[in-house]
Amino acid sequence: MYRSFLIKYAEIAIKGKNRYLFEDALVGQIIHALKKVDGKFRVRKEQGRIYVDTEGEYDYDEVVGALKCVFGIVGICPVVLIEDEGFDRLVEEVLSYVDKVYPDKHFTFKVNARRARKNYPMESMEINAKLGEKILEAFPETRVDVHHPDVVFNVEIRNQINIYSVIVPGPGGMPVGTNGKAMLLLSGGIDSPVAGYMIAKRGVAIDATYFHAPPYTSERAKQKVVDLAKIVARYSGPINLHIVNFTDIQLYIYEQCPHEELTIIMRRYMMKLAEHFAKENKCLGLITGESIGQVASQTMQSLAATNEVCTIPVYRPLIGFDKQEIVEVSEKIGAYETSILPYEDCCTIFVAKHPVTKPSLNVIHNDEKKLEEKIDALMQEAIDTTEVIRIEG
Ligand code: ATP
Ligand code: MG
Repeated sequence: MYRSFLIKYAEIAIKGKNRYLFEDALVGQIIHALKKVDGKFRVRKEQGRIYVDTEGEYDYDEVVGALKCVFGIVGICPVVLIEDEGFDRLVEEVLSYVDKVYPDKHFTFKVNARRARKNYPMESMEINAKLGEKILEAFPETRVDVHHPDVVFNVEIRNQINIYSVIVPGPGGMPVGTNGKAMLLLSGGIDSPVAGYMIAKRGVAIDATYFHAPPYTSERAKQKVVDLAKIVARYSGPINLHIVNFTDIQLYIYEQCPHEELTIIMRRYMMKLAEHFAKENKCLGLITGESIGQVASQTMQSLAATNEVCTIPVYRPLIGFDKQEIVEVSEKIGAYETSILPYEDCCTIFVAKHPVTKPSLNVIHNDEKKLEEKIDALMQEAIDTTEVIRIEG
């Protein structure tokens, strides 16, 4: 029954001259998201509002599902738009709306009228009272409750009159593309897809790097990462996923360095390589799924050692999260089921029984000297053989 959707966005974030940038980015993201949905849609900006108009048949759940992935949207309101043809006509339309949308009339309501166009002959309070009366008359099972109504009938007098009462929550955040791009270190675990989602939510476009260690890690492990990238891309838009063959570097570190430092040294090389691809792709930072104290490589000392090799900012949106809190977001975004599939990760293949939890930078620097002979060539080879897959959400 709906021909249009009214898109609500948080206006506080976009005061002043940035407003149109935000709105244009949001329109662009909505158009992109609806490309995946069957049907004909038009997205338009009007008087500080964004509307999606539909033409012909479409699947309501698919449209709402696609819009729920667009950052910047706080509410999706299926709306009835009518021309202003006098108050009696408005009453008819509102009653027909109430009847269709609420087959069961046992609810409390209030009418919330707003005049964006002040030349309308009635004031908001008067519209509220009159429409309320008409609804009560037509549907005697309903009751008015102005404080805690089950349903709020919004009637907004604009160029057209907007009638809506359903507001499906959107994901919030900022439209992707309003805040540059960052490189996500994406593993097959629970944390990194959530970290990517959280930074994308702030308007940041995402590319990703995955460190693959064949034959120690399988094609299925790689496919799992591709699948996770697809899930993140539903929200972030297209991701260029870099798949780096990390095996020779790992083996070399394993041969040359003390095993309790393996993970830290390996993570330092991961950061260096990710930063290389970040710079190549105009990314302004790195993103990881690290959280303080979660494992030995994520103590404050370990994070400092990992961070030391980076020359661009490293964003760690999960830094203060407990595992349970991360799992909740993972489930919400639909990544959890994929993340828990039991495929091996390159980090778990060469782990020491007793990894250092308080690495000393002096010791690490000294041990890394043992890599001098071949590491540059191995890094270059890893870069040269990296496969890039474009992932669409
Ligand atoms: P996750 O659940 O994201 O795998 P984790 O708890 O297993 O995280 P670690 O294995 O210590 O933690 O990894 C910390 C972070 O380093 C990850 O969140 C991810 O950003 C990055 N990372 C780890 N392994 C890889 C990999 N194979 N490829 C790309 N990034 C990785
Ligand atoms: Mg991991």
